[in-house]
Amino acid sequence: MDSRQQQSDKARKVFRSAQNSLGVEAVRLTLRLVSSMTPQALRKNPAGFVAKWHHEINGLRKKSKKAGQAYYRLERAIWLGRTVDDGLGIRPTMNGLWNDLYGAADMPKVSGVGDPIRLDPSPWSEDNDRESHKDMSTIFHFKATERLKKAEKEANKDFLTIDSLDELDDLLMESIADSLAGEAQKVTEGGGRDAIAEGVLKDPGALRYMRVPEEGACYFCIMLASRGASYRNKWTAGDADVRQFHPNCKCEAVPIFSNDYEYPPEVKAAVAAWKNFGGGNKQQFRRFMAKHQREID
Ligand SMILES: [Zn+2]
Repeated sequence: MDSRQQQSDKARKVFRSAQNSLGVEAVRLTLRLVSSMTPQALRKNPAGFVAKWHHEINGLRKKSKKAGQAYYRLERAIWLGRTVDDGLGIRPTMNGLWNDLYGAADMPKVSGVGDPIRLDPSPWSEDNDRESHKDMSTIFHFKATERLKKAEKEANKDFLTIDSLDELDDLLMESIADSLAGEAQKVTEGGGRDAIAEGVLKDPGALRYMRVPEEGACYFCIMLASRGASYRNKWTAGDADVRQFHPNCKCEAVPIFSNDYEYPPEVKAAVAAWKNFGGGNKQQFRRFMAKHQREID
């Protein structure tokens, strides 16, 4: 049988795969939805667009949340031999927990029976659709409405003809579509990341939260990943920074339940990069990483 660390590494990869598929789907749905709209329609009825957009993306966010909870419950069982209730109050088996995660990632399930695992109380609060709707309205306001208004104003000022205005609209719409797609990916994968963050915060069994950067991650993510690993305590001030994600970010959220947990190579590399840097601010680290990257190439 695999060691706890091997099982844990495997679970992290399955969760990443689930998150990735959901994120890709969020991008695809958003691009399709924006391309079905005219700039005039977006300007005239932003609330109508947000309602449709939220309807599609919120479903994916909920799937991501389920995947995050499945991953959290499995990780906890791997390291502590107990897990938390998901609200149903049913004691799962180890295979059952793996199958919940495999199901979330659309991967084939395993068979076999086992002993039921003991349950601790659920750390998760009720899901709130209204909150995600509010978040997406705000995103749309800044990423689309404001930009459309500004372009309209400038077009009026420059006395553009209808043709050149259409051309401007095409470019602007493309850029708006890309930025909304990135935001949709972030909202979607946020479902799982938030479930893990909330679990770590409210579950007395969790030690801390870690961020695992993807290969080739930007300096910002590497900086946050290096910090997350060095926090020994989930209450450490500034820990909230570690939970910031940018659009199209593929960093993973990982709950830690044991000090025997071995950091993945990506986190060790982030810690080493920060150590080599030797301290300074964000901009200095950005330049350091840019230079370091060139030396590797
Ligand atoms: Zn990232």
